[in-house]
This record gives sequence, C-alpha cells and structure tokens, in this order.
Amino acid sequence: MDKKTIVYRGSLKSCNYRCSYCPFSKHAMTQKELDADKRQWLRFTENLAQRAASLQIGALLVAPYGEALIHPWYWDGLAALSALPYMKAVGAQTNLSFPADESLTRFRWAKGSVRKLRLWATFHPEMASVQAFAEKCIFLHRSGVLLCAGAVGAPEHLPLIQKLRALLPREIYLWINRMDNRRPPYAKNEIDAFLEIDPYFVRELAYPPSDPGKCAGRLFVEGDGRLRACCIAPSSPENWYGPCNADDAPKCSRKICSCYLAYGGQDDFMNRILFGDFPLFRIPRRPKAAFLDIQGTLLFDGSSEIPRRTELELTALARDNIPLFFATTLPYEDAARRCAKIWHLFDGGVFAGGAHLVWENPSEKKEEFLTFSEEILPSLHFLQRKWQFRILIYRDKKARPKENVYKITLLRPKQKPWLSREADALWAALPKQLRRPLRHFTEDSCLQIVSRDADKGSGVRTFCKWLGISPGEAAAAGDGDEDAPMLELLQ
Ligand code: SF4
Ligand code: SF4
Repeated sequence: MDKKTIVYRGSLKSCNYRCSYCPFSKHAMTQKELDADKRQWLRFTENLAQRAASLQIGALLVAPYGEALIHPWYWDGLAALSALPYMKAVGAQTNLSFPADESLTRFRWAKGSVRKLRLWATFHPEMASVQAFAEKCIFLHRSGVLLCAGAVGAPEHLPLIQKLRALLPREIYLWINRMDNRRPPYAKNEIDAFLEIDPYFVRELAYPPSDPGKCAGRLFVEGDGRLRACCIAPSSPENWYGPCNADDAPKCSRKICSCYLAYGGQDDFMNRILFGDFPLFRIPRRPKAAFLDIQGTLLFDGSSEIPRRTELELTALARDNIPLFFATTLPYEDAARRCAKIWHLFDGGVFAGGAHLVWENPSEKKEEFLTFSEEILPSLHFLQRKWQFRILIYRDKKARPKENVYKITLLRPKQKPWLSREADALWAALPKQLRRPLRHFTEDSCLQIVSRDADKGSGVRTFCKWLGISPGEAAAAGDGDEDAPMLELLQ
C-alpha cells in the first residue's frame, strides 16, 4: 500500500430505501441539508484534487450514512477525481439503487475514468429482488466497473444470498458481513453455509485486536474535515482543512477492529495478498499464486505460534483455490517445523533465501537447489575464533560432493547478534575469488551465505515459470530486506 486511501463520509444521513433496522431510512433530509452536503463534498473533492499528489493519496472511497449515489453531485466529484493521473481508484458504498445507465453516462460525460471506478454494493433483501440486484451488478461489471457485492449474514436470508451467489459470475466477489450481537450466536451449519458463499467470512468471525501501527495507509475524513484513523476510531484534534499532515495518523483507542472498513484498511499480509493496493474497496484480485514470508508475516516476535486469525485467513485463501507458497530464508526443515500447523495449506515454496525451491502438489514434486563449492569452508574455519560463530552447512545430498553446499549459516549465541559492520568486515576478510560467486546477509545471530544467484525474487520467477503464470499474476507479502527482490518482481 504505497499510496493512501481516504474514506469520506459527508453530512448526508438519508436513504431512498426503508430497511426496517436502519436509522437513516427514517431520516428525511431537507433541501437545505442536502445543499450543505453537496457543498461539503464539492469543497472536499476540489481540495483533495489539489493535495492528493503531495499527500501521496491514490484512492477515495465514499462511505456514506445512507445512499450517496442517487445524488448526481457525488458522480461528478468522483468523475473529476478519477480523471487525475495520481488517483488510481475512486468509488462508493452503495445499495445500487441509482439509475445505472444514466449515472455512468453522466460519469463519462464529466470525463470520469470508468476503469478507476470501484463500487461496494450491498444487497438489501427487504428492498431489492435478488434478480434485479444481480442484473445490475452484471450490467456494471460488463460496463467495465470493478465491484464487489455483499450482504449482512442474516441466516433467515441465506436462501436469497445463496441464490444471489448462483446468479453472479465468479469474478464478482460476494462478501458476507457478520451480524453483530446476534442472539442466538451463529450455528455451525449457518457458519458453514456462509463460508461456502464467502470463504473470507472467517475474518468477520474473528475480528483482529487493534494495532494502529498498521493504519497509516488510510485516513477517514468527515464532511466538516474532522479526521479519524478509521470509521470507528475517535476523532483527532486535527482537521483536514487545517495544517494536517496525512502522515500523522490520528490515534486509536479501540480494542478491536470490529468491521471491514476498519481492519480492511490495515497494512497486513491478507489485505495485500487478496486485495492488492487498495483493499478497502473489498474487490479481490485473486492472485494465481501467493508467496508468503514467514518471520514477521506469519510468525511474530520470535513466537513459534501462528496466530489463530492468520491460520483462518490462510485456510480461506486455500479454500478459494489460491495456491500458497512460503518465501523464506529458513531452510525447508526449519520452516516445516515452525509452520507445522499450516504446512498442509502450502504447496512448497522458496526456502533458504532462494537457494532451495520445492513445489509439492499431488501430481508431481519439483525441487531445485542453487549450490556452490565448499572451498570457502577452510577460510571460514580460520575466522571462526575471531568472530565466534558455529558453522552450519546445508547440502543438497543428491549433488556432486564438494559442490553441493546451498547455504552456510555462521551462528552466534542469541545475545551476540551480528552487527552489519561486523558482517561486512568478516566478508571483506574472505579471499575475493571465494566470495565472488556468493552473497551474504544477516538475521540477528545468523550470518547467512548463499549463491549470488539465489534470492527470493529469482526463486519466485522460477516458480512462475513452473506454474505457467506471469509474475504480475502472483502476489507476495514480506517485510524484510530479503523480501525486496520478490516484491519488486511482482509490482
Ligand atoms: S440501504 Fe443501507 S442506508 Fe439505506 S436504509 Fe437500507 S441499510 Fe439503511
Ligand atoms: S480500530 Fe481502526 S484505527 Fe484502530 S487499530 Fe483498528 S483499524 Fe486501526
């Protein structure tokens, strides 16, 4: 998420639908109030157009209280913003009741870019027929609009939602939102039925604990300029129209990120893998393969326990038929031990920093090592006493003896991690001709040595060839220096 997403909610509080449980269905706005909402929106879009580039803002999602897209000024504002080169995506949450053909014509006439338009369409069984809602989704999809559709997971509406799933093409993701405070709680068969429709419903069932450190990529702006880190975070003393800096994410005191508009805007591996750069629109890109770093992405702070939510999310990806691969500096055996709980969900991966590739699927197993000569070992033994390390050697046992090393780890005690200047000094002390075909990197108390040709980027490239896909069709997540070649390749 290199560019930020703004979520905008104006003073609009009205809707053309009359859903029985909704406060906005009962609130009629006066013309004066509507005019005020229009003024706020136009002021905001003009201001955003001037500042988006400097604030590194690439997307805008309108998340109204009520229905915004029945008001033509919202279409005009979205069109104007979509025409700006640095805005990559603009859209709104909607009940889809707007006149589709007429609205798109207006959007195009206002020089809007339809390929940047994103809609988050919610199905309201009390107000729309399944057939009419599905037909509108399909019309918009065929018109080039990216959209997701979804519904609140009310068990009594299950048959209608199942019918909707059957009517929509697979490219249109149908999400299910959890019904909060539902009594009685969901029964197992109800959960299973909703998971059949939306494998990512598991994310709704296990909201994540709050972690404001992941929320710098999104800002929630209200019509009067008040700011929040997300729709449920408290407002900040700063104002969009004051001397605010989009880098200063407002504080958050929530304990749990209890809706998609909150957790969907976090910078986490699942949002990146499944939804790409602007996950708040909730429109999956469904990569043809996903490569995941282990330490810092699946495992945290030296813990060997995969968080429960991560396990559920990975299960959902596998259930959605997205092939999963590890991309790690760990050797295969260590990765298998540390990720035993989720190992069955993966088809192998890039191990040992790209020096060992394994693709395991039911029909075949492919394996490749990037090995090097062991002639560097005497020099390392010579330096051992000065730098105080143990030497761990990883070999491809099927390769020619003496040429079969694929990774060397210089292991120090935990309390004596490698400083980068120490690692560089050791490296410089090795004979040039021995280190030339190799590269090194440090991970806490380990100094790792692998072939110069081995890194996660080259490993993922080989995998893409094996899978018959282009790198652009794959996704990856990782947060360390070793992940950079892989992330650059897939950009
Ligand atoms: S469509 Fe949404 S905003 Fe409108 S009445 Fe129904 S629940 Fe409320
Ligand atoms: S509640 Fe919102 S701002 Fe707070 S951590 Fe969760 S997503 Fe971030």
